[in-house]
Amino acid sequence: MIEAACLCGNLKLQIDGEVPAALTSCNCTSCRRYAGLMAYFHPSKVRVVAGAGSTHEYSWGDKLLAFVRCGECGCFSHWRSLDPGQPDRLGVNARLFTNVDIGKVRIRRFDGAETWKYLD
Ligand SMILES: [Zn+2]
Repeated sequence: MIEAACLCGNLKLQIDGEVPAALTSCNCTSCRRYAGLMAYFHPSKVRVVAGAGSTHEYSWGDKLLAFVRCGECGCFSHWRSLDPGQPDRLGVNARLFTNVDIGKVRIRRFDGAETWKYLD
């Protein structure tokens, strides 16, 4: 199981899955600001452990994603889909992984700003 935690430990994720072969660095309007390295899982494989009301969510524009962060320390942990047509994907910020050395995982650059293709 992959584990992730924010800086203060208030928000934890438990992921029933393997570390992906590559993490994604995306340049879209949202991702380039949040600066996460994303790993994607089915939502049923990701358990969010946090006290009630202790996380914040933000969505904007077409409101297809909700970006979740710790309400205490502010770390961006994941996004979840609000799009009824895309319910099967949840993006976890691998920078919060606690039992995986992400320095050894390939990073792929995704052009979410324009072409919606990987650049490498
Ligand atoms: Zn925190």
